Amino acid sequence: MTSDRRVWLYDCTLRDGQQMQGIDWGVTDKQDIARALDAFGIDYVEGGWPGANPTDDAFFAAAPTLKRARLTAFGMTRRIGRSAADDPGLAAIVGARTPVVTLVGKTWDFHAEVALGVSLDENLAMIRDSVAEARRRAEEVVFDAEHFFDGYAANRDYALRCITAAHEAGARWVVLCDTNGGTMPDRIAEVVGEVARRIPGGQLGIHCHNDTEQGVANTLAAVRAGARQVQGTLNGIGERCGNANLVSIIANLMLKMDMQTGIAPDGLRGLTRLSRMLDERLNRAPARGAAYVGESAFAHKGGLHVSAVEKDPRSYEHVPPEAVGNRRVIVVSDQAGRSNILARLREVGIDLDPEDRRVRRLLDEVKAREFAGYAYDGAEASFELLARRMLGQVPEFFHLETFRTLVERTAPANGAGGGEPVALAEATVKLVVKGERRLTVAEGNGPVNALDAALRSALQPFYPELADLHLIDYKVRILTPQDATAATTRVMIESEDGQGTRWSTVGVSGNIIEASFAALADAYVWKLLRDGAQAGGAQPGGAGA
Ligand SMILES: [Zn+2]
Repeated sequence: MTSDRRVWLYDCTLRDGQQMQGIDWGVTDKQDIARALDAFGIDYVEGGWPGANPTDDAFFAAAPTLKRARLTAFGMTRRIGRSAADDPGLAAIVGARTPVVTLVGKTWDFHAEVALGVSLDENLAMIRDSVAEARRRAEEVVFDAEHFFDGYAANRDYALRCITAAHEAGARWVVLCDTNGGTMPDRIAEVVGEVARRIPGGQLGIHCHNDTEQGVANTLAAVRAGARQVQGTLNGIGERCGNANLVSIIANLMLKMDMQTGIAPDGLRGLTRLSRMLDERLNRAPARGAAYVGESAFAHKGGLHVSAVEKDPRSYEHVPPEAVGNRRVIVVSDQAGRSNILARLREVGIDLDPEDRRVRRLLDEVKAREFAGYAYDGAEASFELLARRMLGQVPEFFHLETFRTLVERTAPANGAGGGEPVALAEATVKLVVKGERRLTVAEGNGPVNALDAALRSALQPFYPELADLHLIDYKVRILTPQDATAATTRVMIESEDGQGTRWSTVGVSGNIIEASFAALADAYVWKLLRDGAQAGGAQPGGAGA
């Protein structure tokens, strides 16, 4: 039983989304994305175009087993002058043996005659025959009416005859496509409303592009006018300005329009993770300002905003961040007020009186350090250490005397013409820990790796807590690029321990090794502090001093 408020979600990330410049997914990427879409509750997953490229063929040959989503194979209607039954293109599409087949056809008279060079009658026959043939071979057929809104404006009668032909030939869905992305929301609503008088809204879909930044608005307008299938891509990836962003569409349908999808209400909490998963596959940083799922979507920076959000989040949040699996972020920044600092301190478990003079001192210190290039937004552990050091709560777990790193590029191992030259790094660390002076040397594949190894071998005998610590991310950012190789460098390190706790630290210096050391040392100290490690004697022979 489906209610009139049920909207079917159709994802085109793996086909239309993949048209975006710079995307080159392999079969495994596509399989993993399809599984993630299925697990999240998407109804239709368009896998690609069989016969169009080797990756898509390999994908369909080893199609992932989906639990509830229906996999669809995309392609074009039959060629001019062939019968649908022996058209090689169509054979490849139905040959993928997916439960659903999606066929795209021309519905704009200008496009049929000029781009395809076909008579209007033959184009109608191509639609009718192809849909009927696909219907014989697959459980369900979706007809994508290409350039429908332009066609409707140019020759309304012909555009309607095209989709009626598909509908009558057995298409479960007729999807109206704003292929060039130039239509505005009021026009979309008007046309969909008119079409819905001939083909029921429960069989109408919408496919929008974002060329006027209204892909999402256009999609929602079509739903309001009766369409019940929405097509889009994760994070709106796609050719030119992209497709309609399915992530925002889903959140809006469920949180703003009271529509039902295949996603349970609490399943929406997986939305942020789904969106980030895609960026991971694209090897790019997620857009901070993305609606609902961006890191800044619920970030509060202005002092006034922060104090209001602390009283009641609804003062500056349109929905609770948890609803979409995102989180509230209180940003400490250059413009930070007293309330930001207090809120941040509370987040790391430090309760200070607002009138405490140390709050002001900490604020000044944060400002000065941010001016020098530190960024505490993504380095909570370093922020906590800064605050606790000022409060005298961080013991000196060790005292560094010196460190030295050395990078050597050796000649190929087996002489001229054989093997690659090897770059090796070595680090020496001298420090005092629990009253003992330690000198350690370690090798690594780079200077930071060697330094980490030397530091660890010096400390671990005294602090077994460090055994399960490992670095999971190391990011370098050049802050004053105009100075080229003499620029200031910021290093951010993310660490994890055996219990799955993660924390981030930051170091800034004109020297990348020094910046890395600072971030590394903070990572170690934060872990020792959190585990309640016993410090003591950071001076040589420090007899219980
Ligand atoms: Zn498209």
